[in-house]
Amino acid sequence: MSTLPLIELKSVTKTYGQGATALQALKGVDLSIEAGDFVAIMGPSGSGKSTAMNTLGCLDTPTTGQYLFNGVHVETLSRDQRALLRRRYLGFVFQGFNLLARTSAQENVELPLLYRGEPTKMRHAAAKKALASVGLAGWEHHTPAELSGGQQQRVAIARALVTEPAVLLADEPTGNLDTQRSREIMHLLWQLNVDHGITVLMVTHEADMAAYAKRILHFVDGVVDSDTRNPNPTGASHGGPDPHSMSHPAPAATEAN
Ligand code: ADP
Repeated sequence: MSTLPLIELKSVTKTYGQGATALQALKGVDLSIEAGDFVAIMGPSGSGKSTAMNTLGCLDTPTTGQYLFNGVHVETLSRDQRALLRRRYLGFVFQGFNLLARTSAQENVELPLLYRGEPTKMRHAAAKKALASVGLAGWEHHTPAELSGGQQQRVAIARALVTEPAVLLADEPTGNLDTQRSREIMHLLWQLNVDHGITVLMVTHEADMAAYAKRILHFVDGVVDSDTRNPNPTGASHGGPDPHSMSHPAPAATEAN
């Protein structure tokens, strides 16, 4: 029995602008990603990583070519249909965390469920569970300003997880963090991938962070230049995280990265 790949890009191009100023950001990308994979996307600035992530995240459509998500032709969907697909299957994590500033961790994590019209009780329970799953039990009522950078990124990851997505798309998730917090966040993503089977697609500039992935793609000038399997992802070879670094006891942290 052959299983369908979760994600397939077939000869995908993306051109910005028209005529003399047209710029081809993707020049024919073929890519197949199985459910449960952990893919790091690397490459120099301007090589098409963000454009590829926007396409994979159903935020933008290819100019030509096909994008199949779970067998569905995304390039044929309307904007609203793509929004539904995103809400149902995808979770997003960004370099700058993108949390609401004066809003508690709990409320930030509940937001996607609020948009989905879930009842209060369900939202509370699901957000609490998601925060616990990223090591933030006891931190529910803290605002982003009362949390370290690493903790803020954990809240953002909990917000992405609360809808139980099939795929987590992370755009330089450790770009604003120091090395230790970066490793903790990568370990968390690795755990989510291994323990919960969430497919992870992550853009990173750092080889150390890409080393946590099972597969590393290098984009160069709008195409996938290399596609390699990582036989020994960092998370696996390190056994387990330091429990003290994974779960910060409440209340207030004083770190400020
Ligand atoms: P990367 O993420 O690898 O830095 P991008 O996908 O952001 O690369 O960009 C690829 C190319 O497409 C770059 O030359 C960039 O300037 C161009 N580009 C990206 N987004 C737009 C846009 N919205 N309009 C015009 N050009 C764009």
